[in-house]
Amino acid sequence: MKTENYMKDKCKICNSLLNEFVDHTAKCSICGVLLYFPYPDKNQLESVFLNEEQNYEWYANSFTRKLNGFRDIITFVIEGTEQKEYRVLDYGGASGQFALIFKTFFPKSEVYITDINDNSLFEEYKSLNNQIKFNDFENDQTKFDIIFLNDVYEHVEDPLYLISVLEKKLNKNGKIFIDTPRQFWIYPLFRKINSYIYKKILRGTVSAAHLQIWTNYSFKLSLKNTDLKIFKKKYYTELTQDPDYYIRGMNINNKIIKSILVFLAGLMLFTFRNKIFAVLKK
Ligand SMILES: [Zn+2]
Repeated sequence: MKTENYMKDKCKICNSLLNEFVDHTAKCSICGVLLYFPYPDKNQLESVFLNEEQNYEWYANSFTRKLNGFRDIITFVIEGTEQKEYRVLDYGGASGQFALIFKTFFPKSEVYITDINDNSLFEEYKSLNNQIKFNDFENDQTKFDIIFLNDVYEHVEDPLYLISVLEKKLNKNGKIFIDTPRQFWIYPLFRKINSYIYKKILRGTVSAAHLQIWTNYSFKLSLKNTDLKIFKKKYYTELTQDPDYYIRGMNINNKIIKSILVFLAGLMLFTFRNKIFAVLKK
């Protein structure tokens, strides 16, 4: 897919000159988006996803969260039962597990999948998914009723370009669903009061895999080259792993600090609302 419409020293969302850099990140002072910076090159990005092995263990460890997460997404996007069959696309769908859950609700639906890593689709889920090879995707003519980006929008190199490509693949009345991390209150708080903890948060959440952490404004701006509008939105607390997993990612080794953080995270989890759930429509 064509990418890199943006300049190397400018915000890829609003095109302002970037001027706030902390460690491996840049924060745009205009739209507020937090970016992995300097922008990684093609090789670096490909090595993140293309070398990923089929990780059955990860699925086994997070299955309750995944199942509940997919259920919440589907019931958020499709209210009532106005329609019984859909043609949907699971963009960046990795293992293809989403098709299993979607077809549990709507067995007559067709689920398509595409992913930057064509080999990430599990053998076991192949029969449930119509795979479109990543290199064929942009020119593929299939149109969809709903396109799902489940934890994908933060991974893509050029979100503005992607969303304009996806817009063209919608049927009349088609919808796009996006579920993606946003900066919630701990970001501005620690940015102000404690740069040590702020850097740990950046280390735990921004990486060559998580290229942008949205603000409400930057998320809205990312649709500016399309006719899409935010039709429905909510904020949601969701961790795909235990707090312990993220704290390990922050590279905190002191056992006491770690237990305090795990305890606090447990207590305050409901205030995080760290994800944006949004349905986009023309
Ligand atoms: Zn910006």
